[in-house]
Amino acid sequence: MSVTVSNWGETLRFTPEEIQKPTSHEEIVRLVEQANQQHRSIRIIGSGHSWTQLIETSQILISLDDYQGLEAVDKENGTVTVRAGTKLRALGELLFEHGLAMENLGDIDVQSLAGALSTGTHGTGAEFKTLANQIDALTLVTGQGKVIECSEQNNSEVFKAAQISLGAMGIITRIRLKVIPAYKLKLQTDKVELDTLLGNLDDHIKKHRNFEFYWFPYTKITQIKCVNKTDEPLKNVGLAKKMNDVVLENAIFGLLSRFCPSFSAPCKNREYDLRLGSIKRHLYQSQPQNICHQTVSEILRNGIQHSCRTFHHRH
Ligand SMILES: Cc1cc2nc3c(=O)[nH]c(=O)nc-3n(C[C@H](O)[C@H](O)[C@H](O)COP(=O)(O)OP(=O)(O)OC[C@H]3O[C@@H](n4cnc5c(N)ncnc54)[C@H](O)[C@@H]3O)c2cc1C
Repeated sequence: MSVTVSNWGETLRFTPEEIQKPTSHEEIVRLVEQANQQHRSIRIIGSGHSWTQLIETSQILISLDDYQGLEAVDKENGTVTVRAGTKLRALGELLFEHGLAMENLGDIDVQSLAGALSTGTHGTGAEFKTLANQIDALTLVTGQGKVIECSEQNNSEVFKAAQISLGAMGIITRIRLKVIPAYKLKLQTDKVELDTLLGNLDDHIKKHRNFEFYWFPYTKITQIKCVNKTDEPLKNVGLAKKMNDVVLENAIFGLLSRFCPSFSAPCKNREYDLRLGSIKRHLYQSQPQNICHQTVSEILRNGIQHSCRTFHHRH
């Protein structure tokens, strides 16, 4: 039975001949060898959160959703070995059980580890590099079914190319990731006049572990978001805040993407990708009752060209 696949932004819709969900490294190798013998091509999908045609295929689509989890923890060397299909949120929980964490993440944590690494996903923070820099070593299955173990020291050229490879170097099956002891972060948000913010921008970037701000055209107000390490005890996040953060953030942006294709269809590059992220953020950071009629209808009326004047600065 053929199944139609779409990505999160609904910018892609395609029907592969076959979808495979291997459960082991060996099965992945077998699938690649088989496809190679049949002269059929393979694309690999993580969580389908990228916007461009990276996952699209009319032939074989492989998902590693059934190949997730931690394979090894080496606290002494600060590394863990992770199955490439593991979702970032699940990985965070697995690491936390061992008192460990990734050093930095992007805005969301629903991506697969390999998907996030393969596209150069990054978070904010002047001191941090892309997530791909957290890779210590990886296992790659090439298009011929050859298994290559690589790292800075071992097959270093392949390693460099595979770190951000858009799925073009083969299938990454395992990743040895550099991790650090678990830590707590405190988020503070504030509304600041645009001119004041721009005057102090460098200070904000230096002062905060992670800093970003959102500005909407035709207003003088920005929303700043500062994140820093803390030793304070954890606070209970109320239902209202959860609604604000999780439901509104995802639901509204998701709805915009779904019911207004012109909103997401032009998202064919990272610039749009990030700007859309900022629009979404702005929506959910507004008071729920204000969300939105004006802002959303303005976006819907004027489309992405207008919306993309939104200025989004991430450091
Ligand atoms: C709402 C939203 C918020 C976002 N926030 C940020 C952000 O804050 N920062 C940022 O930088 N980006 C952000 N992104 C972009 C997102 O992180 C990337 O698009 C990421 O690639 C999505 O991961 P995925 O698992 O969905 O990968 P997919 O979209 O499924 O795949 C991405 C690429 O990885 C390849 N791939 C997947 N698995 C493997 C594997 N095992 N081996 C080899 N190749 C593989 C695929 O073939 C494809 O080329 C955001 C996207 C959305 C929709």
